[in-house]
Amino acid sequence: MEKEAKSIEKELSKFAKKDDKVKGDWDTIFPRFNGGESGSAALEKAADEVEEYSTLLPIEYSLEMKLKNINLALEKIKKGEYGICEKCGKEIDEERLKAFPEARTCNSCK
Ligand SMILES: [Zn+2]
Repeated sequence: MEKEAKSIEKELSKFAKKDDKVKGDWDTIFPRFNGGESGSAALEKAADEVEEYSTLLPIEYSLEMKLKNINLALEKIKKGEYGICEKCGKEIDEERLKAFPEARTCNSCK
């Protein structure tokens, strides 16, 4: 699972940067507009970049959520609480953990 967390961090770092103030928070880097260009070419480029930003935002969000859950799972492993449903306190099904190692709730509580 550490490996997965690392690969997500790597993926995130391509278009987002770690927020130093909030642990585990990432910010999508807003595309920088090229000040050197002017006229319609620059406008077109800016529009492209805004479009790119709006496609990246949900990706960044889901990667960040996954990373957060993985880190939570890693902390639970350390505390020996891993695999216990947060809602009902029962053990989470092994099959579910295999499919979603970062799962925090069991099949009936998800
Ligand atoms: Zn449960």
